[in-house]
Amino acid sequence: MERVLRYEKFNSFENCIHGTSAKNNLFHFDFSLALHTGEDAQSIVFNREKFLEMIGAEKNFNIVLANQTHSDNIIIINKNQTMGWSSQDDAIADCDALITAQKDILVGMLTADCVPILLFDDVKGVAAAVHAGWKGTHKKIAYKTVMKMKEVFECNDIYAVIAPSIGACCYEVGSELIENFNDYPQAIKHINGKYYLDLPLINKLQLESAGVRFENIEMSNICTSCNNEHFFSYRKEQGCSGRFLSVIGIKS
Ligand SMILES: [Zn+2]
Repeated sequence: MERVLRYEKFNSFENCIHGTSAKNNLFHFDFSLALHTGEDAQSIVFNREKFLEMIGAEKNFNIVLANQTHSDNIIIINKNQTMGWSSQDDAIADCDALITAQKDILVGMLTADCVPILLFDDVKGVAAAVHAGWKGTHKKIAYKTVMKMKEVFECNDIYAVIAPSIGACCYEVGSELIENFNDYPQAIKHINGKYYLDLPLINKLQLESAGVRFENIEMSNICTSCNNEHFFSYRKEQGCSGRFLSVIGIKS
C-alpha cells in the first residue's frame, strides 16, 4: 500500500493537493498524526512534516487543523496561516468542518473510524475537510458543509471523497443508536439480532441531498477495521490513540 492514499476524483485537478496518511511502522507511533492523544509531541510533529513531504506540499504551504468535538460547527478559514500544526493549543476550537478559498493552505481532519470527507470545487476554488462520526452524521455536518460552500462561495460543481472509515461490515451499534438514523433504512443492517450502521453511505446520501452529483462522489470503500494494518481503527484496536490525517487544499 502507498504511504499516502490519493483519490481519482481529485487527481484530474491540477491545482488540487490532497491525501490521506496510512500507517507506517518506519515512523514513531506507526505514523500517527494526532497531537491530542498524549504521544510525544516532537515525534508527532516530525511525522506531520514527513506527511507534508509525502503529499508534495511545498514549504510555503500553511495548514489548519481543528480541535474536533463531534459538533456540526463549520469554520471558514480566511487567513492564510498555520494553526493546530506544531501545537494543539492554536487549533480551531470546537469545530468539525473547515472550508477555505485561500490558496496554498491545507485543511484537514484526523480520524480512526469516523468518516473523513474531502470536498473540492475547482471552478470556485474552494476546498473543505469534514469529520463525521455518528454524532456529526446525525447532525448532518456533511450536508451543512456543502450548503455553506454554496451559500458563501456559490459552489455549484463540488467533487467529494469519502475517505477510509469504519464500514457497515464492522460497525455494530445498539438499537437505541439506530433510532437516530431511521431516515436512512438503506444504511441499517439487521443480522442475527445485531444492528450494523453504514456511516459512509449516510454521508454520501447527505452530500447528494445537498446537491453534489452522485457521479462526483468517490467512496474509498476502505473499512478501517477490516484494513487495520493500514489505518487506525478505534474499534478494532479497542481504543487506540493513533489517528490518520486527510487533507485538501488549492495550489496557487
Ligand atoms: Zn469492516
